[in-house]
Amino acid sequence: MIHEVILPGSTIGVLGSGQLGRMFTIAARTLGYRVHTFSPDYDTPTGQVADRELCRSYDDLEAVREFASSVDVMTFEFENVPAATAAAAAERALVRPAGSLLHVTQHRLREKSFLRAHGYPVAPFAAVDGEASLRAALATIGAPAILKTAGWGYDGKGQAAIAEPAGASAALQSIGGAEAILEARVPFEREISVIVARGADGAMIDYGAIENHHIGGVLDLSSAPATIDPRLAAQAVELARGIAATVELCGVLCVEIFVVGGELLVNELAPRPHNSGHLTIDACVTSQFEQQVRAVCGLPLGSAARHRPAAMANLLGDLWRDGEPRWAAALADPRLRLHLYGKHEPRVGRKMGHLSALATTVAEARAAVLAAREVLSPKTGL
Ligand code: AMP
Repeated sequence: MIHEVILPGSTIGVLGSGQLGRMFTIAARTLGYRVHTFSPDYDTPTGQVADRELCRSYDDLEAVREFASSVDVMTFEFENVPAATAAAAAERALVRPAGSLLHVTQHRLREKSFLRAHGYPVAPFAAVDGEASLRAALATIGAPAILKTAGWGYDGKGQAAIAEPAGASAALQSIGGAEAILEARVPFEREISVIVARGADGAMIDYGAIENHHIGGVLDLSSAPATIDPRLAAQAVELARGIAATVELCGVLCVEIFVVGGELLVNELAPRPHNSGHLTIDACVTSQFEQQVRAVCGLPLGSAARHRPAAMANLLGDLWRDGEPRWAAALADPRLRLHLYGKHEPRVGRKMGHLSALATTVAEARAAVLAAREVLSPKTGL
C-alpha cells in the first residue's frame, strides 16, 4: 500500500503539552523533526522542549486550524482533546491517530460498548444516567461495583466504589450525578498492559505484557516482562494487536488488562504512549515515543526488543512535601535513570517524573527503583 511519508526536517504538531508530549518531542527531535505544541498553558513540559509553544484554548477552533496549517502532520498526547478540536485540526492537516479513535476512547461507555460489540472480553457493565438506572444496573451487576463518569476520567478520577447497594445514592452524588457507567469490581490477581504500535502500512510491533501496580487509582510501579503465565501474556498480546487492527490504528495504543482467574478482561484503552511504557525509553531498542513518531510520519517501526528486565517507579508531587528530593542520593546507584518533566508546582498526586532501572531480573529492577525512590525523600532517605 502506498502511503505518505513525512520526512525528518518536517514539523509535527502536538495537541496537548504534558509529559507524554515532552517525551514524544524529545524522540521526534532526536530523529530530526521539528515539533510545535498547542495547549491552553504556557511553559509546559512539552513546550519547554518544543520548537514552538502556542498557548490557546482548545475551543479556539480558528487558532486550531491555523496551527494545523503550519505543520506537516498532527498528533495528540492526551485523549480528552474535544472532538470539535480534533475535527478542526483534520480540516487542515493529516491527524494520526484519527479523531474517530479519540471519540471512542475518551468516553468509557462508548469504549466498553465498542469492545464488547467486537467480542473483546470486558467486565460486566451498564449505562447509568440517574438513580433509577443505577438501581437497575446494581440489580443485574451486583455489588461490589465501581461507578465511573463516562467522560473525562483518568487515573482513577471520577470514580466511586459501591460496596453495598445501599451506597448507590452517595456514589452517584460523589461523581456529581454525571452520565456514568457501572462496572463490576474485578477481583484481579494482576494488572498488565500491552503497548502496540501500528504503522501507516498496517505493520505492528508490541512490547509484550508489562505488569502494573496502582495506588489509589494512579500507576505507581511498572515492570517488564510481566511475571505471569507466558500463555496468558501471549493471549494479552493477541488481544491488544487485535484491537489495534480493529480500530485501524496509526500510532501507539495501550491496552490495560485485568488478569482474573486465569482469564483476561480489558479495562481501558489509551490511543497514545502510556505511563506503563515509560520504561521502554531505557529498556528497549525503540521507545514507545519513537514508535509514535515513526507511525505518524509513515516511517517503518523500530524494534521493540528489550535489552534486559526493567522497572519504572512514578514520582508524584507528594515526594516534595518535606523539601526538594535528594536527587544525588538516589542516583548514587548507577543503574538508575531519572526523568523529570519540568513541572513547576509539585502538587500532591501530580506526576512529576519517574525513575527506571534495568537489572538481571525483574525483582532486582523493581527493588532498585523502589529503593531509590525511598532514598529520594528528605525524611526517609539516609
Ligand atoms: P481506570 O481509570 O478505569 O483505569 O481505573 C484506575 C484503576 O482503578 C485501575 O487500574 C484498577 O486498579 C482500578 N479499577 C478500575 N476499574 C476497576 C474494576 N472494574 N475492578 C477493579 N478495579 C478497578
